[in-house]
Formats: sequence, C-alpha cells, structure tokens
Amino acid sequence: MIRSAELDDEHLTDDGGLEPIVWVENAGYPVDILERYPTVSVKEQKENTGYLVTKIGTLSKHPNEADAVEDEIETYVCHCWNFVTEHLPKFNEGATPADISACKHIESVDKSARAMNDQGQQQLADTPVSSE
Ligand SMILES: [Zn+2]
Repeated sequence: MIRSAELDDEHLTDDGGLEPIVWVENAGYPVDILERYPTVSVKEQKENTGYLVTKIGTLSKHPNEADAVEDEIETYVCHCWNFVTEHLPKFNEGATPADISACKHIESVDKSARAMNDQGQQQLADTPVSSE
C-alpha cells in the first residue's frame, strides 16, 4: 500500500538534509550518512506526515578522546519535533551521540531493520520497548 504524506520540513536544511545531523556535526562529531528511511506518521482526520529517519555512523566519544575504530557507533537521527526536543542529547552539557535515544519513527525503522537482519529470529523484533 502506498501512502502519501507531506514531508515535515520544519527541521530540514535547505538542501533536504536533517538539521539534527548538522547539530551533531557542529558539536564536533564526524557523521557518515549510512541510510535513509522514509517513514510516515498516519494521522486520523489530518494530513499524514513524513519523516526521514537517517542512520548515521559517528563516534561515541568526542573525537579528541575517541578511538576511530573502537568508539565508532551507528545510530539513528530523525527530524520530528519530539526527537529534536527530547531524544537529541545536550551536547553542550557533555552528552555524546551515544546518548541519542529513539523517537517512535526510529523505533519503527529499527524494528523492521532488525526483523530483516534476523530472519527466523522474529521474536527479537517483538521485544517490547520499555517506556520511560
Ligand atoms: Zn521522529
């Protein structure tokens, strides 16, 4: 089924990138764009909204202290309001990209990515996400 959706552009850059990625870079971390996953928030009685969840490669420690191989991590970034306000850590208070947590768009992408990686181990994808 094809769903059409209006892309939420509030936290997109002029060239279609994600502002939160720019903020990670501005905090001094290298960012590799690994994959983009378009997601759609289906809303009743309202226009569906699209988000571009992006998988990035970066470092779990500041580049000054990081081992380029050992401290390499992959994480997801979204540009929804919820991610920007609650899931993107405060880098100016010592947080690192390892502290990024998942909004519901990232959760849905992560679940299906794991389900694809672990064919035959579907129960992993059904592990309930504890809410905070
Ligand atoms: Zn999101």
